[in-house]
Parts: sequence; structure tokens; C-alpha cells
Amino acid sequence: MELQSNFSATSSTLMNQPRKLFLEDGIGFVELLEWFGSDLTVANAARVSMNKESAFQTVTDAEGKEHQVLSERDKQLIEYLAHHRHVTPFFHPQLRFRIKMPIFVVREWYRHTIGFARNEVSRRYVTDAPQCFVPGVVRQRDKNIKQGSKDTAVDNNESVVTQMRAAVEQSCTLYNQLLEQGVCPEQARMILPQSMYTEFIETASLAGYARLAILRLDGSAQREIRTYASFVASCTEQIFPVSWKALMNTGTNLLL
Ligand SMILES: Cc1cc2nc3c(=O)[nH]c(=O)nc-3n(C[C@H](O)[C@H](O)[C@H](O)COP(=O)(O)OP(=O)(O)OC[C@H]3O[C@@H](n4cnc5c(N)ncnc54)[C@H](O)[C@@H]3O)c2cc1C
Repeated sequence: MELQSNFSATSSTLMNQPRKLFLEDGIGFVELLEWFGSDLTVANAARVSMNKESAFQTVTDAEGKEHQVLSERDKQLIEYLAHHRHVTPFFHPQLRFRIKMPIFVVREWYRHTIGFARNEVSRRYVTDAPQCFVPGVVRQRDKNIKQGSKDTAVDNNESVVTQMRAAVEQSCTLYNQLLEQGVCPEQARMILPQSMYTEFIETASLAGYARLAILRLDGSAQREIRTYASFVASCTEQIFPVSWKALMNTGTNLLL
């Protein structure tokens, strides 16, 4: 998938290696820290209403190896729940990520509030050298839409990237100079650009990430946020394959 080329590894290798993937600039990242639950968690959250409980089924593959799989009945139940927007069973599974993201993307990401908990690095305390995101390709404005961009780069891409990098470096230099002059960190940070990276830990439900993915994987979302949403979605899909597929099939109906 196109967007995943921004990461140094593909999601298919995710379950067998450290789950921290960097953006193409080697600074921004998404790290899956831990998760709670499985597709069975969703099915059993629903089945408790009938005072019932389900379990994984054991199947043996051609090589004689045993696997725990979701029963067909539980799969159908999950599909039914998603289709009819019985969303509360999808609130129980949780995922926790550590994310390093530019502030202009964070402002969009943090608009997703229901089902999300976040804690972020504070530049009132931390005075580490700021790091900023500078795109390698600067996209053209699309005059036909109010927000968004064309997929094509500006004609003078190299020069524009150089100008952006210079502006960012100037701000970061001034920030350090202000600190050296005794300015408090909470005010010195005022001159730092929106492209500055920040870092936060986020815990959210499966339902929360499904809402976010439906909105932020869409072509109308900014490319930079799509990159992050794409990785989060690929983790979630691998851990909760049946639930994720059912929720994504529901599409924008889930948002109603
Ligand atoms: C392409 C795109 C462009 C956008 N452009 C802008 C923009 O220009 N300006 C801007 O400000 N935002 C913009 N947004 C943000 C958007 O308005 C939403 O805030 C964001 O998508 C999060 O939506 P959510 O439904 O996941 O919200 P969440 O806050 O996670 O809420 C989830 C759901 O809970 C319910 N809910 C939450 N809070 C309340 C409440 N107070 N009262 C009643 N029900 C509630 C609603 O059903 C809501 O849909 C944009 C989003 C996208 C995807």
C-alpha cells in the first residue's frame, strides 16, 4: 500500500519484530506498546447479555500444528454487531501506542476524543533540542478544493524544501538562544514551529481506532495524518482481524 512506504518496515512483519516503525525522516514513529483482548473479547462482551460465554476452537493444520481460532458463530456475531452498530462490545479491547508526531498532525489527531486517553511530553519541563518534520516532497495547492493538495510536487520542490528547512532551523536556534538568556521553557517554546515533533502515549479502544481510521484513511484527510492512521490501522487489523474487517465494512455508517 502506497502510504506504508513511508515506514521502514511493512505491517506484515510487525508481529515478529519490535513494533516500532519510523517515518521516512527517521524521527517520527509509531510504537505499539501493548494491547488488551482479542476478537473473542468482543464476542464475549456481547454474549454476556444472554449470560453465555464462548471460547476459541482448536484446529490442527496440515503440519500437525495446533491453532486457536475464532468459531464461525463468533465471527458471524461480530459481523452482526458491527453491521447493526452495536458498538459497545468493541469498546473493551484496548491498544496502547507511543507516538512521535509533528504538532500540526497532533492537532488533527487529538480531535478524536471519545475512547482515547493521552499523555504528552511537556515543553514546560523538557528543553531537549527540538526536532521538526520537513517534507521531502512539497505538494501543490489544489485550486479546486478548499483544503487539501494535489499529489504532484511544486515545480521548485528542492528550493522550497531548503527554504522550509532554513526557517525551522532559525526557530530552533532562537529557541536555544532564548533558553541561554534565561527565558523560561514555557515561554521560549512559543517561537517553535507547528512542524515540531512531540511525543505522547495513547490508549484507545478498538472502536475508537475504527472511527479514527474511517475518517483519517479517507482520501480527504491530510496525507501526513493518513501515514500515521495507516500504521495504527495495520496493527489493529492484525490483532483483531475479524472485528477490524467488520468495523471497516461498516464504513461511515459507524460514525452515525
Ligand atoms: C477530513 C477532515 C477534515 C476536518 N476538518 C476540520 C476543520 O476544518 N476544523 C475542525 O475544527 N475540525 C475538523 N475536522 C475534525 C472533525 O470535525 C472531528 O472533530 C474529528 O473528525 C473527530 O471526529 P470523531 O467523530 O471521531 O470525534 P470524537 O470526539 O472522537 O467523538 C466521537 C463521537 O462521539 C459523539 N460526541 C463527541 N462529543 C460530543 C458532544 N460534545 N456532544 C454530543 N456527542 C458527542 C459524536 O457522535 C462523535 O461523532 C476534520 C476531520 C476530518 C476527518
